[in-house]
Amino acid sequence: MSLPNATFKSLEISAKGLISRADAKAKIINNTNKGIRFFVQRDLINIPEQYLETAIPAHVNNISSTQRNTVLSNGVDSICLTEHFLAACALANLNNIDVYLDNEELPFGDGSANLWLELFKKHNLIQTVKESQIKLEEEIYIEDPNQAHKYIKAIPTDANFSATYQMDWNHPKIGKQSYTWALDKDAIEEVANARTFSTEAENQMLGLSGWIVGITETDFTVPLRFPDEPSRHKVLDLIGDLYLSGINPLNFQMQVISNQGGHYLNSLLARELSKL
Ligand SMILES: [Zn+2]
Repeated sequence: MSLPNATFKSLEISAKGLISRADAKAKIINNTNKGIRFFVQRDLINIPEQYLETAIPAHVNNISSTQRNTVLSNGVDSICLTEHFLAACALANLNNIDVYLDNEELPFGDGSANLWLELFKKHNLIQTVKESQIKLEEEIYIEDPNQAHKYIKAIPTDANFSATYQMDWNHPKIGKQSYTWALDKDAIEEVANARTFSTEAENQMLGLSGWIVGITETDFTVPLRFPDEPSRHKVLDLIGDLYLSGINPLNFQMQVISNQGGHYLNSLLARELSKL
């Protein structure tokens, strides 16, 4: 179901990593039908042949943590914060690429998928999925085993991919909100530009104030790009995490609904999709 990649020689980008606070460089190269693979390689200029054996395929089998962000590992190397990058790949429909990193995380940018989308745009690599073609035979429903009010489900449809996030936060500017992104009607920027957020208290504790959108008791620390930016961002995370099924989720004829889910439930759905 994957289209051949738009051809490009090599893309490079460098931006601060959220966890290390150090520059994280990424070099992206086409591969032939190998899917999306990550490599941790300190020297991005001279990449030795044997490094190809240390790939971390972007696959649900390699998830080592879903706490706060989605971490992939091959047992030796780990890559943190894979979700925004993978969401950009899903939205741009990039399928077969090797990503060399000089750090154990991806460059972070503004907490949305903007950094990546702009890079892909600059190189004319956006080739959005036109039509979802993989049918889902039956509904998949997954409940969080520890918090039953949280669930994720994938409903088979005859239409193109869509994803809905339902949020219910006890906060005057958030409360109950729901956002749906549909391949048919929404531009990819509608979801790609939505930034991650965190409580301002936590941002201060971690020294991230002014970098990540902060939530105070009554408001946000910066103006939002969309009134429902938090739920849009959750849809962005969901799209990125579902790419760990090994198939761009935009290719499935399904409506995904996440009720207060996160990376953990996303990863469980990605596992089910990987078995189809
Ligand atoms: Zn996120």
